[in-house]
Amino acid sequence: MLKAYKYRIYPTKAQAELMEKHFGCVRHIYNWALNLKQVHYQETGKSLSKRVLQDLLVASKKLDKPWLTEVNSQSLLASLLNLDNAFGNFFKKIAKFPRFKKKHSSYQSFQCPQHVEVNFEAGLLNLPKIKNIPTKFHCTFSGKIKTVTVKRAPSGKYFASILVEDLEAIPMPALIEQDKTLGLDIGIRHFLIDSEGNKIENPKYFLNTLKKLRAQQRTLSRMKKDSHNRAKQKLKVAILHEKVANKRYDFVHQISAKLADKNQATSFAIEDLHIKGMVQNHKLARAISDCGWRMFLNALSYKCDWNGKNVIKIGRFAASSKTCSACGVKQEKLPLSIQVWACSCGAQHDRDINAAIMIKQFSLAQPPGQCAAA
Ligand SMILES: [Zn+2]
Repeated sequence: MLKAYKYRIYPTKAQAELMEKHFGCVRHIYNWALNLKQVHYQETGKSLSKRVLQDLLVASKKLDKPWLTEVNSQSLLASLLNLDNAFGNFFKKIAKFPRFKKKHSSYQSFQCPQHVEVNFEAGLLNLPKIKNIPTKFHCTFSGKIKTVTVKRAPSGKYFASILVEDLEAIPMPALIEQDKTLGLDIGIRHFLIDSEGNKIENPKYFLNTLKKLRAQQRTLSRMKKDSHNRAKQKLKVAILHEKVANKRYDFVHQISAKLADKNQATSFAIEDLHIKGMVQNHKLARAISDCGWRMFLNALSYKCDWNGKNVIKIGRFAASSKTCSACGVKQEKLPLSIQVWACSCGAQHDRDINAAIMIKQFSLAQPPGQCAAA
């Protein structure tokens, strides 16, 4: 079982310089290999394998790029692996053709696949070639470190994402039982509504910070290119972006942890929404991406895996909010503006809670084979 932990690191000036060297060298190798692959393909119609690129890299370190020895060689190899994966995704048609990495792109990163140590008590992280990096460990972990990715965010802050193999076995998932299943629905007014009638508000600070962000971005676009003020303004915008992202991260993880750790329910039924399809609707788009819905679904899924709980994804069915959960009759029309409605059977419904109950009912009605516990 793999778990990821993200920590803020506070490199000294000398350490930060070494990190910048790593960013630069890793980017250089990525672009160098991408160019070689393209040229080779144009000339021969064949692709250049990772193996050959590795040999070329080792050779050129000795010949024309001795400066590469200043950085961790494993990070350089990881860069070749990333390029290989990028091509793999391109051929699987899940990504665009790999592009050259830019020096001034907002995020810079490098990976260390081996020889990493953490000292929780002293608050230090050891990477190959960069020892004793002051780190704020807001939580500890046990298990084997797989890789560490060091990143510099546009705000100039540095982070280390540590991927850890947890040696604890994954618990067997619980049986899916009706009274221990909770239907979950998303809303615009509320982030989450469950079939028991609980609602979690969408945090207002997203909207507030977004307003600020838009204003700052407008200021930025009016500034002269390459001016000193523009660079300052750019940093301001980057910091606001990071603020929104951090808040969203905290919010999503808080809610998913509550459900996976503390809630009585052992199964959660949820619509597997096609976010792409919905994003075409612009008004919804902002709300949905702000909610971090995809992020939430992801976090809930793996936290449930850790705790032996189930996430039952049901296919998209537009009628969920239009169908009466008491009698099963579908309403002809139910405009989005209507929040409370009455069915001809006499049942009174809150639109969102009814939808969450319907999601629960649908998930339990699925034949067991289709009850994909994700
Ligand atoms: Zn009814």
